[in-house]
Amino acid sequence: MTSPHGSSSAYFIDRCRCDVCKLAQFRRAKTWRRKRHLDPMVDAAPAYERLREWEAEGFALRPVAAYSGLKRVAHDQKHIHRSLSERILAVTRAELLANLPDGARVPNIGSHRRVKALVALGHTHESLGVTAKNASSSRSNRVTAAVHRQVAALYDQLAMTPGTSERGKKLGKHLPPPLAWDDDAIDDPEATAAQWIRTAGTDLRDELTERREAIAKLTKAGLSAAEIADRLQLAPRTIERHRKIAS
Ligand SMILES: [Zn+2]
Repeated sequence: MTSPHGSSSAYFIDRCRCDVCKLAQFRRAKTWRRKRHLDPMVDAAPAYERLREWEAEGFALRPVAAYSGLKRVAHDQKHIHRSLSERILAVTRAELLANLPDGARVPNIGSHRRVKALVALGHTHESLGVTAKNASSSRSNRVTAAVHRQVAALYDQLAMTPGTSERGKKLGKHLPPPLAWDDDAIDDPEATAAQWIRTAGTDLRDELTERREAIAKLTKAGLSAAEIADRLQLAPRTIERHRKIAS
């Protein structure tokens, strides 16, 4: 990275696609189109449809519209500028969660999953503090963007640190831990936690690493999958899977 974010060269030469660079490029493109009268009006329906989808998911409509560049929501609007339509259709969930004003309502599914994942790691609602508690007990399916970001920050900070509460771990035994969640998927209502293995009292990561190393060593020594399975007390299918991943 040699050029400052937001510059043309950051976008075109360094190919940076951070929010700052994308927004700057969007603005440059818009100016360019206006200048050449290439920003005609298009059917407003797809953009409004997208806004309604965000609303159905739990996002407050107005802040989403405002963030996308739509100054006034008018459902009877037939046409909007093409660049505005494109901008509305291009907005992502991650962008909204990161950028909507503190007071804007957003879905709480991501906060909920993060709190549960931390509980699965042995943290408790008490040790996580009042924000997490409110986020997960919120009866509506929404939280403010500020609360969402506080919980997300807490999660980033603690997701690799086991908590100390046995009660928490017991409570969390059937909850997907942080490793079960893809970071891109945790806020997506369509996404589900990956299959996770959990053994009481064992750290998942250590167990998996240990297992992988043992299988590699025994494979190198010339043992068959069945022999390794026998020695490590695992299903032969597990051994095959590990070998496939390793090769
Ligand atoms: Zn950038």
